[in-house]
Amino acid sequence: MTKHAILSASGAHRWMNCTPSARLELEFDDSSGEAAKEGTAAHELGEHKLREALKIPTKKPTSIYDSEEMERYTDEYVQFILEELAAVKQITKDPLLLIEQRLDFSNYVPEGFGTGDCVIVADDVAHVIDFKYGQGVLVEAENNPQMMLYALGALNLFDAIYDINVVKMTIYQPRRENISTFEIPKTNLIDWAENTLKPKAELAFKGDGEYKPGDWCRFCRASVECKARAEENFKVAKFEFKNPPLLTDDEIAEILLHVNDLTKWANEIFAYATNAAVQQGKQWKGFKVVEGRSNRKYTDEEAVAEAAKKAGYEDIYKQSLLTITNMEKLMGKKKFNELLGDFITKPKGKPTLVPVSDKRPEINISTAKNEFMEEK
Ligand code: SF4
Repeated sequence: MTKHAILSASGAHRWMNCTPSARLELEFDDSSGEAAKEGTAAHELGEHKLREALKIPTKKPTSIYDSEEMERYTDEYVQFILEELAAVKQITKDPLLLIEQRLDFSNYVPEGFGTGDCVIVADDVAHVIDFKYGQGVLVEAENNPQMMLYALGALNLFDAIYDINVVKMTIYQPRRENISTFEIPKTNLIDWAENTLKPKAELAFKGDGEYKPGDWCRFCRASVECKARAEENFKVAKFEFKNPPLLTDDEIAEILLHVNDLTKWANEIFAYATNAAVQQGKQWKGFKVVEGRSNRKYTDEEAVAEAAKKAGYEDIYKQSLLTITNMEKLMGKKKFNELLGDFITKPKGKPTLVPVSDKRPEINISTAKNEFMEEK
């Protein structure tokens, strides 16, 4: 068995929507970014603290990502688990709690397995908890395929012993102040697994099915070089414009629908091509590598200060407050709100054009424009 499952739980949203992506991804290195490495460090620290709290022998891990912030969030994670445990103990005397439990769901997904950060089994409920340290994307538990795969793994382990009826899934994402829980009867979960998951997983494992671009592409290792995604983005370029020479409002609206995806994709292609040219000397037809613009900088700050002072310039240092984000990191959210909450204001944002699917409410444009100009 490979160290990483071909059909990973974390990639399920992607490979269930674009089934051939799982095999295509194998052609690319799994180079985890900084955020993923920081997430692993947070998991290890959280695991250690949870073991310590449950009086299980453990050794504190260290990493280059250690920070006050990580200490605080992992403490909160452990607190959350202990509260969950205390709550189920009110109902069941001896609940089962497992940390970093391997969860095998290969009866639905070929070679499929994953690791549940924490699983609590009490009476007829299996509760799978996933600690997410990332803050880029808010993750909901409802109908989340990754969580449902873990839940299937938990069922495989415990159903025969505990006669489980309900499966509960929680995403604990402290940096987004997000605790999202989803409960589903076991029968519904198994129905989904048999009728939706299994057929998709079989296609995905073979590398069959249709390439289907969507918001899941952003987590695909093939995303930059994927032709299906390129074709999707070029659809707008092939748009058949009527009524020359000027674009109609409808045509502009149609283009607007694609602008965000197009910009993101174009930036990724540019970054990929630049990296290949600069790092590996790759030649792109019609392009060359030149020296970019740069800013002047001091060669020796101490010498600069001395020379300036000697010449009679005293006021050469500036002191500035930490940014709100850094101040909040320093103090922690609670202390920050206690001490500085009254001094924080959030100006109105600049009126922004977004698709109607965006969750923010529509604003009255004439009032908003005046308010924004006044604040400026
Ligand atoms: S980039 Fe998108 S369309 Fe292409 S393989 Fe990956 S998920 Fe599928």
